[in-house]
Amino acid sequence: MKFATRLVHYDVAPRDPYSPMSTPIYQTATFEQEHADSFGEYDYSRSGNPTRRVLEDQIAALEGGSRAFCFASGMAAISNVTRLLKAGDEIVADWDLYGGATRLFGEVIDRAGVTVRYVDASDVAQVSAAISPATKMVYLESPTNPLLRIIDLAAIAAVAKERGVLVVVDSSTMSPYLQNPLELGADIVIHSATKFLSGHSDVTGGAVVVKDEELARQVYFLQNAEGTALGPFDCYLVLRGLKTLKLRMDAQQANALRIAEFLQGHAKVAAVHYPGMPFHPGYAVQMRQARGGGAVLSFAVGSAAAAKIVAEKTELFKIAVSFGSVNSTISVPLKMSHASTPAALKDARGIPAELIRVSVGIEDCDELIADLEAALKLV
Ligand code: PLP
Repeated sequence: MKFATRLVHYDVAPRDPYSPMSTPIYQTATFEQEHADSFGEYDYSRSGNPTRRVLEDQIAALEGGSRAFCFASGMAAISNVTRLLKAGDEIVADWDLYGGATRLFGEVIDRAGVTVRYVDASDVAQVSAAISPATKMVYLESPTNPLLRIIDLAAIAAVAKERGVLVVVDSSTMSPYLQNPLELGADIVIHSATKFLSGHSDVTGGAVVVKDEELARQVYFLQNAEGTALGPFDCYLVLRGLKTLKLRMDAQQANALRIAEFLQGHAKVAAVHYPGMPFHPGYAVQMRQARGGGAVLSFAVGSAAAAKIVAEKTELFKIAVSFGSVNSTISVPLKMSHASTPAALKDARGIPAELIRVSVGIEDCDELIADLEAALKLV
């Protein structure tokens, strides 16, 4: 079956006697057992829940993995993956990451003796040179956030595989509809399900997807041991949103491309970062490894003050962190999504204060462009 069909045709309620068309919410903490000395399929929802299992199986299938695991947030999913490492291990990461990931790497996992080395992973040679005997994981986002740089995932995976290093890709900006890192050689894919998977700004969630059985065993062990799984009702919301992933992304991506074109030609806009346009330096790689540029883009206006005015004066683009919703949102990453980046790294990274990030929704595109045009007139 093709992707659009698979989004709605799958076993939504395994072994349910009533054949519902949508997955029941098994809102229960515990499950009665037949025997006192052995467990049935489900015993306790931290360890396993039928609603969660349907969601996990569907995400695994869409992403081309063998198993997926759903978490209370994208951060819980990222944290789970870092727990695969032990004291003395090292992560080589691209420098342009979601601020929360950088905070976790810089201020949490160091307590467990895991260190992180940042490189420019859009240059494969830098990743190769940074891998040391202590390196156990390469950690990437592509497109990166908020600068929308493109990392050649297959090239990095090839280098990492030679050195026995796991490749982890946070693919939240693309969703499984537009990009499948496991097929490009990655070992682990992470999603903030808060974004495109659910698509309606009504739930926080995360997912970890793997192909390898042993990795699946370890991720599951940690999910259960740490109690970080997504609750049944939130699983239901993600399942509901996921059914329209293709419809939403097609509309949002088409809008994003038009908006990028509009911004590119605008006198008040100094730079546009959108990997779906041929002028983008990562365009060729993006078109090879993904099915479009997605629905997130960033652009620079003349100054931080101008960025604030544009963000505050748009009306359809609501000021909000996060991305991937059916509603368009606008943010100033340095002050918002990336505010949690530790200060020293923030300076080194040079995310411009005048950078604006937009997540483009499903609204009428002429109205979105008019909204941006009106706000840009004020700077
Ligand atoms: N990964 C990326 C690329 C993100 O942008 C975010 C949040 O904005 C996360 C992960 C974290 O996800 P969550 O907010 O669901 O914890």
